[in-house]
Amino acid sequence: MEDIKKNLEKVHDSIREAAEACGRSEDEVLLVAVSKTRTPEEINTAIDAGTTDIGENKVQEIMDKYDAVKPVRWHMIGHLQTNKVKYIIDKVDMIHSVDSMKLAHEIDKRAGAHGKVMDILVQINPAQEESKFGVSIEDAGDLVREILDSCENIRVRGLMSVAPIAENPMDVKPYFDGVKAKYDELSKIDHPRLDFRYLSMGMSHDFPVAIAAGSNLVRVGSAIFGERDYAKFRAEQEAKKNGNA
Ligand SMILES: *Cc1c(COP(=O)(O)O)cnc(C)c1O
Repeated sequence: MEDIKKNLEKVHDSIREAAEACGRSEDEVLLVAVSKTRTPEEINTAIDAGTTDIGENKVQEIMDKYDAVKPVRWHMIGHLQTNKVKYIIDKVDMIHSVDSMKLAHEIDKRAGAHGKVMDILVQINPAQEESKFGVSIEDAGDLVREILDSCENIRVRGLMSVAPIAENPMDVKPYFDGVKAKYDELSKIDHPRLDFRYLSMGMSHDFPVAIAAGSNLVRVGSAIFGERDYAKFRAEQEAKKNGNA
């Protein structure tokens, strides 16, 4: 198994360096450990080493692992289908991937049924890549305002973004800068259900650049848990389904 504890220390060191390099403190940056394809045992190792927040991108994985993972804050960071909201509404603390009114209405409805107000982030696709979800920077303000107008059981906590893959992470800084500028603009909206606190940007390969651009929540997976082995993961899922696990 990867040395999760050592990796976590390294990631925290890099977060501190990146934050201090732009006159900020490490405490301002929340580390969400992204545990997709990872076992509850690996996740619990990270929790024992101080991890307070974990991120998953699939509803099924949240449901499979939820009971076996120690108390921790859960973040849904991946694309969320409307018909699956009901399975995670009572499990996750924040949904990072809201990019349509259809999804917002469903979250609102399910949260209301649970007597809960759900924290969400609006996902921006800053380079308008076909392969990625999220609204354009131009449309983000309208979506935030419409959610505030019509979803009583949602609190809008900020913005989330996944930058394009670049050989040199510095090349994507302009995208992060653009999202940060939109974040600063929208954070000024005066509304009881708008409470901007999280700018969720940066993954293993680009989180120092994201922090330099103003990110205060980084979603880091492989730098903590090691490279993901999807073939192995699928084989294990298959074995479990057939009752051989
Ligand atoms: C997988 C994933 C991450 C983490 O990716 P790493 O490169 O492993 O750090 C972050 N954000 C989202 C939305 C993801 O799906």
